Amino acid sequence: MTARVLDGLKIRDQIFLELKGEIAHLSGQGIRPGLAAVLVGDNPASQLYVKSKIAACEQLGIASWLHTPPASVTTEEMLSLVDELNRDDNVDGILIQLPLPKKVDTKKVLEAVDPAKDVDGFHPVSLGRLVSGREGLVACTPAGCMEILRRNNIPIEGANAVVLGRSDIVGKPMALLLMHANATVTICHSKTRDLPHVVRGADIVVAAMGKAGYVQADWLKPGSAVIDVGTNKITDEIEAEQLLKNFPQRLAKFREKGSVLIGDVHPDAINTAGALTPVPGGVGPMTITMLMSNTVKAARLRRAKPSAKAAL
Ligand code: NAP
Repeated sequence: MTARVLDGLKIRDQIFLELKGEIAHLSGQGIRPGLAAVLVGDNPASQLYVKSKIAACEQLGIASWLHTPPASVTTEEMLSLVDELNRDDNVDGILIQLPLPKKVDTKKVLEAVDPAKDVDGFHPVSLGRLVSGREGLVACTPAGCMEILRRNNIPIEGANAVVLGRSDIVGKPMALLLMHANATVTICHSKTRDLPHVVRGADIVVAAMGKAGYVQADWLKPGSAVIDVGTNKITDEIEAEQLLKNFPQRLAKFREKGSVLIGDVHPDAINTAGALTPVPGGVGPMTITMLMSNTVKAARLRRAKPSAKAAL
C-alpha cells in the first residue's frame, strides 16, 4: 500500500482563498486585519520565520508591523512594547517570535498579550477556552493539523487517535482538539511504555516529538492516517543513508545539498499508512496559514459589527 499524500500546500491555497473573501468582507466595513510581529535580536531562524509570516500578510492584504528590539532588551521594555500593541486598535494580532533572550521572562511577556490578540494561542486564557470548548484563538500548528484531517475527510469521530508529544504548543492542544472532535485520544510522552504497541492501536497518529524518523513503519496500523509535525534537519550522512535507503532520489538531493528535512515518522511509513503528511510540505505550511486565519478571526471577533459577524 502507498499512502495518500496529505498536501499542506494545497490546503494552504484553499484557506488563503477563503481568507481573501473574509478580508474583502471586513474591508467593506472599513476594517483591515493587522498583525504586529516582535522579533528580538538576530537569530537567523527566527528572522526567516518572521519574514515568511510578513510575506503571507502581504500576499493576503493583512496590515503588518515589524518591531525589532535588540537582544539586550529587558523584560520591562518588552512589557511596555506589548502594552503599546495591546492599546493600538489597528493591531488585531500580536506575534512574539520565540525564543526570547534567556534573561527575558518569556512567560510574563506572553501572558501580557491581550488574549483577544493572542494569535499564537499561547495565552493561558486561550488554552482555558480550548479546554472548555469555547470559541477562541487556537495554537496554529495543531489547528493546522485539524484542517489537514478535516479537509481530507479523514474520519475523526470515534477514531482512536494517538498524539506523540505533550508540549504546550503542539501535543496538548492537539489532543484537546481531537477530543472535542470526538476521537478517543491517547497522549504519549518520553515515559510512555511500549510506544509501538500504543501506536499500533491508532487510526490517527500525530507525531510531535522532535526525533527524526522515530516512529517506525511497522508500528503503524495499515491504512492509518499519520500527521507528522516533526521537522528535523539531518546533516549526518550515515543517518541520512539509514533513513532514506529506500528513497534514492531524496538521498541524492541530500548529497547535493548537505542536509535534508525529516519528520518524526520514518519515511518508510509511506508503505504502511493510508494517508500521510509529507515533510516538508505537510504540516509546515499550515502553521503560517493558521496564523493568518487567527489574525482575520481576531479582527472579526474584536471589530466586526454583530450582523457581519453572523454572516462570516
Ligand atoms: P517539545 O516541546 O520538545 O516536546 C517534545 C515532546 O515529545 C515532549 O512531550 C516529549 O516528552 C515527547 N517525546 C520526546 N521523546 C519521546 C519518545 N521517545 N517517546 C515519546 N515521546 C517523546 O517539542 P514541540 O515544540 O512540541 O515540537 C515537536 C516537533 O514538532 C519538533 O520537531 C518541532 O520542530 C516540530 N514543530 C513543527 C512545527 C511546524 O510548523 N511544522 C511547529 C511546531 C513544532 P516529555 O514531555 O516526557 O519530555
